[in-house]
Amino acid sequence: MTAHVAILGGTAEAVALATALAACPGLRVTTSLAGVTEAPVLPPGGLRRGGFGGAGGLADWLRAEAVDVLVDATHPFAATMAAHAAEAAAAAGVPRLRLLRPMWTRQPGDRWIEVADAAAAAAAVGGLGARRVLLSLGRRELEAFATLPEVAFVVRMIESPETPLRLARAELVLARGPFHEADERALMTTRRIEAVVSKASGGTATEGKIAAARTLGLPVVLIRRPPAPPGEVVADVGAAAAWISGRLPV
Ligand code: NAP
Repeated sequence: MTAHVAILGGTAEAVALATALAACPGLRVTTSLAGVTEAPVLPPGGLRRGGFGGAGGLADWLRAEAVDVLVDATHPFAATMAAHAAEAAAAAGVPRLRLLRPMWTRQPGDRWIEVADAAAAAAAVGGLGARRVLLSLGRRELEAFATLPEVAFVVRMIESPETPLRLARAELVLARGPFHEADERALMTTRRIEAVVSKASGGTATEGKIAAARTLGLPVVLIRRPPAPPGEVVADVGAAAAWISGRLPV
């Protein structure tokens, strides 16, 4: 009997989990991608793309595809998808696990300013009086910084935005992680960065900017994570694989 594992993806962890499960006999694995990234890293196994049409649509899909377990391995800031996953899994009676990368730990030398959202991050940057700021954010958070026309931004994104950035002074740096501390330090030094803005994404792949800012004594404005829905959470792929094997009907 083949068991069906569905992974809500769009992260390195989702790809790593699909890769780990690909070697398991008797498993069918399907990764779901939102379809927002033009050239995503593709996991092994089955793939579907695009929204489900809300929690109800996802519940229908779980039933139609006879999914046995659902792993929500979306990004820590994908709050809508996480809420839909919780609601849909409950409705369809499918066990659900949240695979959530661990948050960074504050260390001596860190100058973190934690804020609730992008607007508060822009206000914090204004308060710091920083003239050159690295924004390590997604498209949807950038709008808030249009209120700071006097600041020169270095904006790092994975893919070029479809429409021009609405920032008065911005240099776009396109790059896909992981980012190492030495490279992050070089980026911050050559661009004469005075403050960094980031989501509190956590995980090792993007921790280099946090370490680099610490070494350089730069303030980091951190947008707090949205709360995860109630339910079981693991921090790494090995724990997710163990959870899955404990629940499969094979
Ligand atoms: P979101 O705001 O939580 O979700 C918005 C909508 O996008 C969802 O309601 C759902 O549409 C659809 N969606 C999201 N993830 C999906 C998936 N894996 N498969 C199918 N549909 C999905 O999500 P988001 O923050 O825009 O993130 C979108 C994708 O980018 C996710 O896969 C996430 O892991 C990845 N990502 C996000 C961030 C970030 O900072 N937010 C960073 C890196 C990667 P329906 O309601 O129609 O089902």
